[in-house]
Amino acid sequence: MDTFQFHNPTKLIFGKDQLEKLIDELPQGTKKVLMIYGGGSIKKNGIYDKVMGKLKTFGAEVFELAGVEPNPRISTVRKGVDICKQENIDFLLAVGGGSVIDCTKTIAAGAKYEGDAWDLVTKQAVPEGALPFGTVLTLAATGSEMNGGAVITNWERNEKYGWGFPPYTYPSFSILDPAHTVSVPRDQTIYGIVDMMSHILEQYFHNPTKSPVQDEMCEGVLRAVIETAPKLLDDLESFEHRETILYAGTIALNGMLQMGYRGDWATHNIEHAVSAVHDIPHAGGLAILFPNWMKHNLDQDPARFKRLAVQVFGVNAEGKSDREAGLQGVKELRKFWSSLGAPETLRDYDIDDSKFDLIVDRAMKRGSFGNFNKLENDDVATILEMSK
Ligand code: NAP
Ligand code: FE
Repeated sequence: MDTFQFHNPTKLIFGKDQLEKLIDELPQGTKKVLMIYGGGSIKKNGIYDKVMGKLKTFGAEVFELAGVEPNPRISTVRKGVDICKQENIDFLLAVGGGSVIDCTKTIAAGAKYEGDAWDLVTKQAVPEGALPFGTVLTLAATGSEMNGGAVITNWERNEKYGWGFPPYTYPSFSILDPAHTVSVPRDQTIYGIVDMMSHILEQYFHNPTKSPVQDEMCEGVLRAVIETAPKLLDDLESFEHRETILYAGTIALNGMLQMGYRGDWATHNIEHAVSAVHDIPHAGGLAILFPNWMKHNLDQDPARFKRLAVQVFGVNAEGKSDREAGLQGVKELRKFWSSLGAPETLRDYDIDDSKFDLIVDRAMKRGSFGNFNKLENDDVATILEMSK
């Protein structure tokens, strides 16, 4: 293991009716709250009214930034930063999925930075502080509710990057009521499941690979998700299954599974480049790319792939080489995601190879990447070819 420190400052408030706790969590003396949300799902499912009601009881003046896009854009961050600066906002409340939370994180830091918030995303500048913020999560997927990362797109430049600067970009609290996720439509439910599984897989593939405790944790969470996902898709209104998936999404990326190891994260990097050029759902891209990243890297450590195949997908490895068993596991992963209804190829989004050069360029913008195996231009191009 690498040496490490673990400090996750986010207070997780989980379970039925826990929105009741919102007021207790707002810092004393808060006068102006900026509530940040997406394209309107919270108005349809009633969460907007519930949150507004609580904020009114608290007595703060409430400002609103609506319309945060899936794959949130720097242009929306800038709007939020302007409101914060003009109105002297002292607390931000994100109500939504990962996109709303990531946008809020970047607004929080941007509000205390004199230059353009894009400098923070590109790491040309570091935050000098941040407004405090909390979240009311409405979608199980990214883990952003309990981590310090944010992913922001600059559509004009076709660039999309993950960034973060703990502790400023950690929510001070996150309220997770599984009932708030019951209205998530089928396709977004599938994307969420693929995203959280991908987060675990990114961390499972690391170097060096001797990590008995982490392996067991990753495999256990993956098995729980694989067992629950089809049941949830059969009954989207099940509180019990929503609860399991919601908790899994948070555990998948709150730092618990990565202590002492650096995950690979190459597939996320390639996906960010794909969705910076073609505006597709993050996890749709991951579902297409991840099995191909795996096939491309199988020979890096076949025993690790075999372990995943056996422990998570129940592959019978008897009489098979590590490579054969590992490849069977990759096929099982693809089969599982397809059985849920996830996309398999870029064609599923009508994406052809005409912009592959641009995607490779964007993926390589910060140099070679991947901790399990370093990827260069040719590797990214090959994985894209495999994903056509
Ligand atoms: P999202 O983009 O936040 O939301 C996707 C869609 O789901 C939106 O159209 C949203 O509608 C809708 N939705 C959300 N909650 C709903 C509910 N309760 N009922 C009905 N519809 C609902 O999805 P996400 O997967 O959570 O976030 C994706 C973004 O996070 C991507 O940009 C990805 O790159 C990033 N990401 C971040 C991290 C991280 O650690 N920070 C990790 C992985 C990915 P409305 O807009 O109308 O609300
Ligand atoms: Fe992700």
